[in-house]
Amino acid sequence: MIALDIGGTKTSIFFSEKKNLKKFKKEYSSIIKEIDEKQKFCVIPTFFKNSKNDFIEFFSMLKSFDKEIISTFPGIVKIEKMQNEFKFKLFSAHFPFLIGKYIDVNFAINDVYAFAYYHARKFFKDPDNREKSILCIQIGTGVNAVHMNFYDYKKLIFLRKIFEAGHITLRQGKGKCFCGRKGCAELYVAGKYLEDIGKGNPLIVFKNNAFKKKYYENLSWYVSSLILVVSPDKIVFGGSVAKSLDIALLHKLVEEKFPHFRIHLNIEYEKDISRISNLYGLIHLYKKFKKRYKI
Ligand SMILES: [Zn+2]
Repeated sequence: MIALDIGGTKTSIFFSEKKNLKKFKKEYSSIIKEIDEKQKFCVIPTFFKNSKNDFIEFFSMLKSFDKEIISTFPGIVKIEKMQNEFKFKLFSAHFPFLIGKYIDVNFAINDVYAFAYYHARKFFKDPDNREKSILCIQIGTGVNAVHMNFYDYKKLIFLRKIFEAGHITLRQGKGKCFCGRKGCAELYVAGKYLEDIGKGNPLIVFKNNAFKKKYYENLSWYVSSLILVVSPDKIVFGGSVAKSLDIALLHKLVEEKFPHFRIHLNIEYEKDISRISNLYGLIHLYKKFKKRYKI
């Protein structure tokens, strides 16, 4: 099996067979940014996102290595059942030539679903957590969140839901989002905002106190809105921006957004910046999906 975690800029590829990673390394050495032979994965730029030909060529090359391909995609992946067969329809601004088309892979899902499944699996292992719920927020180029309880997790109900938490209206802003709306959260709490403010370098925002204050203010309003709707017991932050996040500070600011409650929200915060979590989540989710639907 080959598992891909396709991001807006980088793609991680896991090879179940070590020999396939070796083969890939030999042919694609010039574009490999990172490689972990022990964990059998490597990272390349998402070079195949703007051209249909590059995409077709890249996927047929992978299929020549291994017939079983599973992948995350940025954007919405809708799972449709057709005569006992599951099909995966993609709606992603990163892949304009694939909008509304079925992707020819064994399993596909949005990346935050894979991330959330990885953490839900750990969370619900503890029987004490089975009456609780978990919210997983990924902040990268964009932002999205998946919320689930034990039943959603166990029966894979969360896969039937379309989570698009990045496009909640956060402000009556002027900036237009790629989705066609204005004032989307994604414009104020994700990578694009950090890049704009940092004039191309998102990390500057975390080093400049005025910028930092502004960003944490946006993010804490956003997170507190999500909490008001789903009331999670645990929140896990992931994605490239999470690396720079001060979770304790965010936690404090979010708690301050609830003065009318005057209660401790009792939410556990965690951040996960490992590259492999999405891939492991995807693989476990695929195995569970096959078992659940007897594929
Ligand atoms: Zn939007």
